[in-house]
Amino acid sequence: MAQQTGSKLFKPEQSTPALIAVQSAKESDNTVAAIYENIKSTDHISASSTTCTVNESSVEEKELDTESAHQYDTHMLQTFDTLQSAMQAVSDYEENTISNFVVLEKKKNFGNEACPVNSAFKIHWYGPVVNNISIVDFTGVPYTIVGRKVLNCHLGKDLATSQKSRYAEKQAITQTEDHHFVRHRQLYQCTKKMDCAAKIYIYHFLTFPDFQIKKNSEWHRKNASKKLKNCVQKENAKGVHSYVVLFPKISDHSNHPITGEAANLREKIDPRVQKKITELYRAGIRKKSELRRLIEHFVNNEIFLGLDVPEGSRRRFFPTRKDISNVIGRSKHLGHGSVLDQSMLVQLVDKWKMDPSCSIFCRPHSSEESKEEIHFLFLYQAEWQKKLLVRYGNQITLLDATYRTTKYALPLYFLCVRANVGYAVVAAFVTQHERTNSIWRH
Ligand SMILES: [Zn+2]
Repeated sequence: MAQQTGSKLFKPEQSTPALIAVQSAKESDNTVAAIYENIKSTDHISASSTTCTVNESSVEEKELDTESAHQYDTHMLQTFDTLQSAMQAVSDYEENTISNFVVLEKKKNFGNEACPVNSAFKIHWYGPVVNNISIVDFTGVPYTIVGRKVLNCHLGKDLATSQKSRYAEKQAITQTEDHHFVRHRQLYQCTKKMDCAAKIYIYHFLTFPDFQIKKNSEWHRKNASKKLKNCVQKENAKGVHSYVVLFPKISDHSNHPITGEAANLREKIDPRVQKKITELYRAGIRKKSELRRLIEHFVNNEIFLGLDVPEGSRRRFFPTRKDISNVIGRSKHLGHGSVLDQSMLVQLVDKWKMDPSCSIFCRPHSSEESKEEIHFLFLYQAEWQKKLLVRYGNQITLLDATYRTTKYALPLYFLCVRANVGYAVVAAFVTQHERTNSIWRH
């Protein structure tokens, strides 16, 4: 956080005019009007487009000891020049407060600095107000809101309730059908969501410092707005992008622990640790215990070299064996030539075809818009199977479907004959659908 320029920290003990405005608004009406009236009465116009008084030294303190833990028990408002530095501040906040945030809402143009200004854009001089806090106080500089992104605590509102109930209904139906073979875990808690209300608001502003007004009156604002709109239409208004982040109070988290071992266990894995696990795995280290030992060494001697090492229960830095397996699984997937099973199969078939003793046919699925859809078909027959089919297949040939008894979704068929010592599989094929046209030659 220290390297970001223009970082501002919102501290209640500092009696700035803007802050008095916010506090008194909280106590009184809690409305935009109240805040604006208070700001007007303080006659606070500064040259900067940021809202709160700077306390650079407090931004530099990041460690979560008893004293600085109180630092997070207040709303923090910070301004950044780039989206990258704003997102870095969010991830630092997550690390310092042992929390995780997920995207709840994101406007279309948020973060898109190349996006042209809409001709119907709205000019703001102060606001918006979130949790009774004005994101931007009046500074005389006009701006427009490009977009907004809201992050919610990962234990926040469950947004997928209808999706989950649909899935449960579908599962209940499939359970009653024949040949159902899906293993289920016993879930004692159906969701991790706890309806926590903590949210991070990130606003993307485009400010126009060239149109700053000296006096806050309706005439001045209208006049400047008119000039600005004209210049924007002629495309000669120079805008500056900025990002304002409103962090929640640590006490905004509700219904779940925020300190101690229970909170430590709910953390996500630090990206630096994830990267290290992938590197070690690619270097040939396969044993989980060895990987854990090396990660511990990496955290203690590289990430926290000369600093206080976090507790061993913090999953962010000391992942479990299962976490390590998951990271490896994901990295393996990325390392493959293709993520699609189908193209992997085509590559394998080419390899198998090197062996002349078996016959293989593979037709990948294709669904190009202009052409007719081609269904997937895979056939396999070994030399010995051919011989058995010729010898015993003249009287009776059976078709055995194993559809839905395997863990794969595609229907698998076996062609069988009764040989002198019992039934034998003489060919196997996999189709896309259980339909006749799936085995037609296109
Ligand atoms: Zn929470």
